[in-house]
Amino acid sequence: MVENVTSCPVCGSGEHKLFLSCRDYTVSGEAFNIRECTQCEFKFTSPRPSQDAIGPYYQSEAYISHSDSTAGVINKLYHAVRRKTLADKVNLINQLHPKGTLLDIGCGTGNFLKACTDAGWLTKGVEADPATRQKAIQTSGCEVQADLLQAYKGKKFDVITLWHVLEHLHQLEESLLKIKGLLAKEAVLVIAVPNSGSFDARYYQQYWAAYDVPRHLYHFNPDTLSKLLAKYGLKVADTKPMKFDAFYISMLSTKYRSGKTNYVESVKNGLLSNAWAARNGNNYSSITYVISL
Ligand SMILES: [Zn+2]
Repeated sequence: MVENVTSCPVCGSGEHKLFLSCRDYTVSGEAFNIRECTQCEFKFTSPRPSQDAIGPYYQSEAYISHSDSTAGVINKLYHAVRRKTLADKVNLINQLHPKGTLLDIGCGTGNFLKACTDAGWLTKGVEADPATRQKAIQTSGCEVQADLLQAYKGKKFDVITLWHVLEHLHQLEESLLKIKGLLAKEAVLVIAVPNSGSFDARYYQQYWAAYDVPRHLYHFNPDTLSKLLAKYGLKVADTKPMKFDAFYISMLSTKYRSGKTNYVESVKNGLLSNAWAARNGNNYSSITYVISL
């Protein structure tokens, strides 16, 4: 089933206009519209597959490819970068809060759960996809529950993380209320999402790989994410760049645009994107937001 988003998920306004028509390059090849709220400029995918209907849009070798295969130079590089970014994430968490309880929402195959457990955190996860959840439990040995809205009733966590997950959640309001309820006093919430205000987003337009329709339902920038969080009494305390994303997203975007990856352009635009962000309000390709109550 397809559903329309009638009012802006950030400010509630019913007035919005077509922003871009994008294609799903990884799975279906179908076109989806991104609409922009005329009040707050928040961008969201609409119409969109309903929660019951979106499953097939996640069924692709390309989408899951990031799990295992290690052939090829690009894949080797990708895995090296992934190890480095995983270490960076754990280092960030260690700096933000004394070791305690951590919940990773949308934990995927559990690599971050394992890294946090190894670093001394009492770690739990949430993962909606059954096969991926089993893999996460095997990888990490952690408890991983299926449904965020029903998960860990009565529990509180010192750190909650969502690494490129918030933009996928159909029940955005319910999810944020639930997440707020799971935060302990003095807890830190860490949310990483792509930034539709980045250089690479502006450069690649409808080919920008991080629009990733219809899996990405929302297309945040620092302003709209801050506004959304403020509705739940949550404040952005700090932002951290995710500099590798500028290269990776540029690489995918060149492929979506012409059918062929342009490595030279990808490296050039990755560098340009990060340099531009440093001069323009830290509008990096993807951003990790550090959030407090
Ligand atoms: Zn709005």
